[in-house]
Order: sequence, then structure tokens, then C-alpha cells
Amino acid sequence: MLRLPFSAHSIAEGTTFTIYCKRDFLTHTFKIIIIMNLITKIPFSCYVIGLLFVLSGSLANGQSKEAVTDTAKKLPPALPAAIKPYEDVVPASARKLKSFFQVDIVKDKYFLEIPDSLLKRDILAVTRIEKGNGEIVVPLINLGYDGDEMGRPVISFDRIPGDRLALRSVNFHNVANDTTANGLSHSLENNNLQSIEVIFPIKAFNKKAKSLVIDITDFLNSKNMTSTFAPPVWGPLDIFKFQVPDRGYIEEIQAFPDNIEIKTVKTMVNESKSSTIELNTSLLLLPMAPMKPRLKDARIGFFSNSYVDFDVDSHGVGATRYIQRWRMEPKDEDIEKYKRGELVEPKKPIIIYIDPATPKKWVPYLIAGINDWQAAFEKAGFKNAIFGKEAPVNDSTWSANDARHSMVVYKPSAIENAAGFNVNDPRSGEILETHISWYHSVMALIQNWYTIQAGAIDQRTHKPELDDELMGQLIRFVSSHEVGHTLGLEHNFGASSTVSVENLRNKAWVEEHGHTPSIMDYARFNYVAQPEDNIGPKGIFPRIGDYDKWAIEWGYKWLPQFKSAPEEKDYMNKWIIEKLASGKQYFYGSQLDPTTDNFPLNSIDPRDQSEDLGDDAMLASSYGIKNLKRIEPHLIEWAAKPGGNYDRAAALYKELVGEYSRFMGHVCRNIGGIYETPKTVEQQGPEYELADKAKQKRAMAFLQKQLFTTPYWLMDRKLYLVSPLGFNIVTDVQKKILASLLSSSTMARLISEEDGFPGKAYTASEMLNDLKQGIFSELPLYKSISMYRRDLQKTYVEAVIALLSPKAIGSVNDGLSIIKAHAKLLASEFKNASAHCSDTITRDHLVDMYERLNNTLKPKVQ
Ligand SMILES: [Zn+2]
Repeated sequence: MLRLPFSAHSIAEGTTFTIYCKRDFLTHTFKIIIIMNLITKIPFSCYVIGLLFVLSGSLANGQSKEAVTDTAKKLPPALPAAIKPYEDVVPASARKLKSFFQVDIVKDKYFLEIPDSLLKRDILAVTRIEKGNGEIVVPLINLGYDGDEMGRPVISFDRIPGDRLALRSVNFHNVANDTTANGLSHSLENNNLQSIEVIFPIKAFNKKAKSLVIDITDFLNSKNMTSTFAPPVWGPLDIFKFQVPDRGYIEEIQAFPDNIEIKTVKTMVNESKSSTIELNTSLLLLPMAPMKPRLKDARIGFFSNSYVDFDVDSHGVGATRYIQRWRMEPKDEDIEKYKRGELVEPKKPIIIYIDPATPKKWVPYLIAGINDWQAAFEKAGFKNAIFGKEAPVNDSTWSANDARHSMVVYKPSAIENAAGFNVNDPRSGEILETHISWYHSVMALIQNWYTIQAGAIDQRTHKPELDDELMGQLIRFVSSHEVGHTLGLEHNFGASSTVSVENLRNKAWVEEHGHTPSIMDYARFNYVAQPEDNIGPKGIFPRIGDYDKWAIEWGYKWLPQFKSAPEEKDYMNKWIIEKLASGKQYFYGSQLDPTTDNFPLNSIDPRDQSEDLGDDAMLASSYGIKNLKRIEPHLIEWAAKPGGNYDRAAALYKELVGEYSRFMGHVCRNIGGIYETPKTVEQQGPEYELADKAKQKRAMAFLQKQLFTTPYWLMDRKLYLVSPLGFNIVTDVQKKILASLLSSSTMARLISEEDGFPGKAYTASEMLNDLKQGIFSELPLYKSISMYRRDLQKTYVEAVIALLSPKAIGSVNDGLSIIKAHAKLLASEFKNASAHCSDTITRDHLVDMYERLNNTLKPKVQ
């Protein structure tokens, strides 16, 4: 009997064992969140976007239930429409477009001919905006541009009583392969009826082609089309709830061998304001037998689809994840060569076209960023596996929205970002196409980054605008990073932690190996390198590294000796263990919390951070600050353009403070940090280790020296005089880090670590004591306190007061007791110091802080 890698429709054999799912928009949106967070300047904004999407996803699922009830209202009258002879419905004069379904166009009517053999087959419907309208661009996430995706459900048609066809949405959340008498497949089938979205009366039979003819004109013009193909999402994102069907039309239907492209125009009216957009829906017939999937492994960063697998464990339900990857197989005639280890070309290479709207001078660099991945595929045994190409411009048969074509889409957006999306077969994770969004303003972002991070060691940055050649190289690096995503790779935030800070300054070493083994890290440029190290561009720029090549090898190696993903499991496990033992450069550190592989993003592992470098944040950041001090006095001079103002200098200055802020964040993460290293039982050592206490204390000492001691060097007085600039951006960094250290979550973590790692933990009491000694260092000496320090100290006291609420910190564990004792000690020191203080403003400040604390500690006494 046919035993596919996992269940699928198998009409031909008369056995229907179906994959059951619901429309899992949530899973899909998670991918969007990850990618939205690609290279953004302010990571927190991404979390907001993430939350928005999560919320929208859960609501979308909720709404889909309503949609099922709605379906009843959509149904046409129960009586079947009269079936006419084929020629009466589709006369010889009709335009006939050949694809897996034939499309017949009769005047303004559109018919689909669905062959019997393709009933119940899974079809992926990807809807994108073909022509945007500025009016509907959703703030914050910049949805609404040409190329933006609105939905990707899987649908299928099946014949139902009354000579009608049902269009169902198909879901792949639950799987059960076991179709034997006692297997769960039958039961699952009986409990997962796929939702009907629309019912069509059959208009005619094409006996010659053995197909059924339906009229899809009204469907495509109705609201049903968008609700079927672009599942509704929450609130501001749900633009189609305002759709007015009588202000839309079908623009065009094109047919290609593997796909049907439907262009429709829709108008939304909201409070008398209307906006019209053009949508492109691609219908792709998914392969009858899905590609053999590969199981996700927590030790390598691939995007994945998750399923509830009822076969994994007879005692319960297991979660199964299949990675997202392209189908990469040798040609039949090359199989033996491949097995012998010779490089062969794949049956179908990955081709990514460059949008014709891209400025010509950047095209070669975007292409180079794509082609750079060829070396990685060679590790998996394939040569010429991936190409960048200019999109044809005068070819009427070529369309950017033809679902067979992958693209880098150039978007006229002010968003400083780029993003790599893929469309994959939800049954197997097979990537079918990709659209990389390249937002115009990403150029400004990378230019500023490079100037701030490499300005001390690369003289080419000492001018208002970087030369095209240098910009091109920066574009190439961003292009490679985004293409990495579209090959299935997740961020590897841990990669840069495998390189020692010494090696980052070692010219020979770093030029040979690069400053991080992964371009999928957020490790932009080598900010550790000092001018005297004389390190050239090869040691400053990121590139596809050892980890990336290994990840592609692992994900794309063709392993015909195994018939299914579970059969590969032992082999893959051994392979990973051997590879990880062979060098630390293969380490993968997740952007997500590895225990849940879920949002919120913040991993508590100090190794897995964005924008950091090296194995020691204190050392790396010290070198980074040295460089910032070198360039800060020159920003006005470098940015000066004849006739120009100080805007660019101010933008560079903000970037510089931002960089300083990131250094502080990297160091801060060491306090209470826990290393999380996913392992299988064959691997030695613990999965969870506490960051060394001495290192945590060094992190605290660093923050006292570089952050809480007012960083006057960072307050640019020259810029202060020529721009509306204030220094809140500097003091905000102090406040942000302080808020993180004095948060209930940090307190709770330190208390739990004291219990989990007895004798080894940096305790909450120790941290509070160290903070107090540094932040209030003036007190024992009865020194007067400067304005910035008074500001910082008041912020500290307010944070302590916030923690004194049992609601904030919990009244059951030791947190409240510890913070109370600390507050009392502080209050007594304020009182004592104020009695000895000669400076009026300092004394007022101390008395004020004393009273604030005292009022909170003893509210009734007052
Ligand atoms: Zn990214």
C-alpha cells in the first residue's frame, strides 16, 4: 500500500487519508514577526508588531469559526442550477487558458474547468497586493505595498450532492499517518471536516476532458473571494471588512503551467473615504505527494511548520515540526555522481529575480548577495544551485506575480528595513517561492550603521555620503542576510559569541574567518577592531560563514536512503553531535526562547543577543566605546555638506547614542544570565548553566563605570548649540538599564537562581547592594551630587518604590522582604547624608528621596 512520508489525498488508489488542519494563520504570522525583526533599528518596535500579529492571529482563528456559520448564508438555493450542454456554456469562441484547471473566458464571464482527477487536491492560494494605494497603508507595519501578502490558505474542490462543487479551506494542523484498523487516521478524519467556504452549481460537463465547469465570476467579485483567499485579521489590519462589492471587477486571469493568476480590483469604503487596490491571487496546485520533510532540530535555526502528530507517541500527542526548505534534488542522470560525492547541478535551481524598479547601480550587488549562497549549497553537494537575475522587462509572458517567480521587490517606503518571506507547502515545508521586500530607506540605515560602527577604522566613512562601491558592499551583505531567510534560515543570534574578543582584533584571524560565523546573526560590523589593528574590509564586513554553510548542508543534503523524516532522525542526531563537537563556530543560538520556540523573543542567554560581538560583552563594549569616543568629535565635520543643515550630523549622533545603548544592553544581559544549550541525551553536560558569578559582577562594575557615572563624553555640546538636541537620549539609556535591573522579573530570576544554583548565583541582595554603592557613591563621602546623578538617583528610588508594592513583586517569595530591607537601608543613608550636606540642592534632593521612601514604607505614620 502507498505509504507517503505522511498522509495525503490519494484518490487514485481509492484510499483517502487526509491531512487535517485548520487555517493556521497564527503560525504564518509568527514567521512574519521574526522577519519583521530582521534588521530593524529599534528591536522593541518589532515586539509590538509581534504582539499585534499574535493578537490578530488569535482573533483571526476566532473569526474563522464565525465564517463557518456565515457560510450557510452564502449558499445558493438548494436546487441545483440546470446543467447545460458544454458548448452552450463554453462556445467555440471562448478564450481558453490552459493550466491545471482550464480557464474559459466568455465575454465578461469566467469559468473554471476542474478535472475529476483534481477533485480534492490541495491548492495553495496566495494573495498579494498587485497595485497598492497609499490610503490603505497600515501604519507601523507598512502593509499595503505592491507585493505585500494578504493570505495563503490551502483550498480544495470536491463534488457534493445536488450537482454542486464545494470550495473548502483545508487545514494541516493535525496529522495522523496510521491508516491501519487501529490507527488514528480514520478517527481524525471523522473529527476534522474541512470548512466549506463557497458552493458552486455545476454549469456543464466537459466530457472529453472529464471535467466539471463552474462559473467563478460572481465569486471573484464578491466579498467571499477576499474572505476565502485573504483570511480576515484583526482591527486595523482587516481592510477587507470595508469592501464594497459593486465597486470592484476582474482585471485579468492568466494561466501558467503550474499556476493560475487572478487579478481583481477591490474598493474599500470606510466612513465615506474610499480606496481601491488591485489584488493578485495565485492558485498553485500542490504536488500530489508532498516533498519528504525534514524534522526541525533545536540545534540548527530553520523556520518550521508545526503539527500535532497523533502518531508520534501512543500515550499522548506530540508536536512535530518540519523545516521550511526548497526542494533540492539531483537530476536522475546525476544520482550516482551525487552519491559518490561529486558536485552536481540540482534538477531545479533557485532563481531570484531583481525588481526592475531597483536603481540600476545596486542590481549587481543584490545579485552578488544571492549568488554568494552558491558556496553553501556546494557543501550539500549541489553546484549552481542558486542565482540572482534581472527580471525581464519587455516580456509579456513574464510576470513578477507569477507564483513560480521569486523576487526581490523594491519598495518606495520610508521604513528602514528589509524582509525575506517565503511561500511554502504547508504539508511538507517545501518552499515554493519567495518575495524579499527591500524598503528604499534601508540604505540610510546601513549607511548610518557603518559610519558609527566602522568610522574609527575605515576612512571611507568620513564624508556626508558613502561612495557607491562601499554602499554596494553593504547592500550585498543585507541581500545575503535576507536571502538566507528565504532559504529557511532563522536568525542565529548566538554565532558571534563563539569568536573571542582577541580574535576580533587579530588581523590575520578575523580577515580569514570573519567576525561572526553566521550572516544570519545581527552582527553588523566589527566595532571591536581598533585603528592600530589595521584590519581591512574582510575583517569588518559580515559574510556567509561556517555556520551558514553547515546549516545549508544539514537542511539540503539529499538523503535518499531514508524514506521519511522520522527515519532520518537518528542519522541527523549523530551528524549534529559530531559537527558541534568539531568546532564552536557551528553553534546556533536562538532568537527565541528555545524551550518554547515562541515569543516574546527575549532569550535570557547572554550569548544570544542582537547587535553584539565576541565572547565577552564587557571587553567588546569597552573597545566599542573607545571607537565611539574617537568618532563623536568628528560627526559634524563628516556630515557637513555645502549649503546643508545639521540634520545628518544629528542623525549620526542619535545612531551613536543608540550604539552605546546597545553596548549597555549587551553587558546588562550577563546579570542573571543563563546559558541555554539544547541537547539530546547522547550529549554531555547540562542544558542550562548559570553565567559565571565573577562575570556577572564584572558586568555590574562595567555599568557603574560606563553608564551610571555620567558619560559626559557622550553629551555633544557642539551639536547641542546647532540643533534642537537635548541629552534625554543619553539619560534615557541609564533609565532603561536601571528599569531592567530593578524589575520584578529580574528580581524573581535572581531569587530563583539562588535556589537553583546554590552558592554560585549572584543574589538579588548582592545586586542591590552593588547598585547602591555605585549609584549613591557620593553619600558616604558627603559630596555634593550633580544634576544628572540626582536624576538617576531619583529614578532609582522610584523603581524601588514601585517594587515595594506586593502586586509588583509578589508577597509570597523573598522578593518583597529583600526590597523592603534595601529601601530601609537607603532611607537611613539619605537621612544621615542630608544631615552632613552643605550643598543646598543636594540636601533638598536627599531629603526628598528620604521622604518618598519613608512615605511608602510607613504610610500611616505620615
Ligand atoms: Zn533577519
